[in-house]
Amino acid sequence: MDRMIDLHAHPSLKMHYLPYLRSTFHAKMYSGPIWNPLSFRYQYGNLKRSPVKVLFCTHYVIERDFVAKGVKPHSRALLWSTAPYYYARIRFAKPWESLLKLMETCEAAVRNTNRWVFGKNPRLVMAKSLADINGLADNEIAVVHAIEGPHVFGYELEKGQTLDDYWQRTLRRLDYLEKRGVAMLTLAHFWDNLFVPQTDGTELIPKVKDNQVVAGRDDLLVYMKRANWRWGDRGRLGEELVRELFRRGILADLSHVQVHAREAIYDIAQEVGRPVIISHVGLKHFYDHEYNLSDEEIKRIHALGGVIGLILSKRLLVDPIDRYGDDGIGIPDLIENMKYIRQLTGDVSAIGIGTDFDGLTHPFKDCYHPGQLHRIIDAMKAHFSPEEIDAILYGNSWRAMENGWGSRRSETPVSLRSAG
Ligand SMILES: [Zn+2]
Repeated sequence: MDRMIDLHAHPSLKMHYLPYLRSTFHAKMYSGPIWNPLSFRYQYGNLKRSPVKVLFCTHYVIERDFVAKGVKPHSRALLWSTAPYYYARIRFAKPWESLLKLMETCEAAVRNTNRWVFGKNPRLVMAKSLADINGLADNEIAVVHAIEGPHVFGYELEKGQTLDDYWQRTLRRLDYLEKRGVAMLTLAHFWDNLFVPQTDGTELIPKVKDNQVVAGRDDLLVYMKRANWRWGDRGRLGEELVRELFRRGILADLSHVQVHAREAIYDIAQEVGRPVIISHVGLKHFYDHEYNLSDEEIKRIHALGGVIGLILSKRLLVDPIDRYGDDGIGIPDLIENMKYIRQLTGDVSAIGIGTDFDGLTHPFKDCYHPGQLHRIIDAMKAHFSPEEIDAILYGNSWRAMENGWGSRRSETPVSLRSAG
């Protein structure tokens, strides 16, 4: 039977921030092929027809400065006029409080959705450990908590707060998240945080300039900020956070992290024997962007037992110049990305999928909601064995979860770190 782990999707973003959606997956919203920030792709009608067995529900607290500075003035005016309450909620809410609300929304949505599930239709289970997933019945789908961006621990130091105060509070918050069953934390996002420097997430699109196709920023609505500081500049906060995640068994997701910081984190992962996840990316081989992975990195992630979640967006899988006059069909490109990793590493063990459905990305024209994920499986059959397909869709991510989520099951970790 087909089964899949989606390493990165944002249903809670829609349910929390869109004023007309309630805490339930049951909703009949737009989920068509056109990019639309108001769509809801993971609605139950699509989910129940999908091969998804484990859904990483990634909670993204929309960054205050992204809204204040990243959203262009005309879009800001639009936001104010349509939904002042929700706009204010983004601008002035404390990120930790917003995160708690996102998590509550997600858990309530699982309960509320099941009230209206009848017959043989799949039910949702909020899974807070590997055991919860191991215990799933055939007609159950696991939803797990994941978080995008360490800004949830606080955008900056508060008045009178020292860096050490901030870190002590972060440790208490990590305790809480660990107990609440959070599986993964993405270490950076669109705007500056106090821990890990981020790439510039603004997407590039083909534009015609002087009769030539060039790659230009798609900044009609927003632009994102590249950190102008380096890993380690801000004391050891980034390294301490990564080591805490590995120690506690919360998966570290390196999407949005700058290359030099990714490399530092691979070293730590190797030292402590934990896998890394890059939950929603493309490859530099096809599109040389700072967000995407180089061949050397792919080999490194493969050696660490990590997983590369390929994103369902041509804007990261294909070079913008090659996308000029493009039809938006993406499944063949996704498969080329998979084949390239297999050829480079010798097997499929580092390949996974992070759809980014309900995030801000532009979906494929041939697979724009979870109910269509079977199309990817059908297309894979010409290039991969049934065992390889199951590994790519499920087995590899499951292996990384087993080795990265929760305390270690076997021997005590080998840590070279000196005490204190
Ligand atoms: Zn992202």
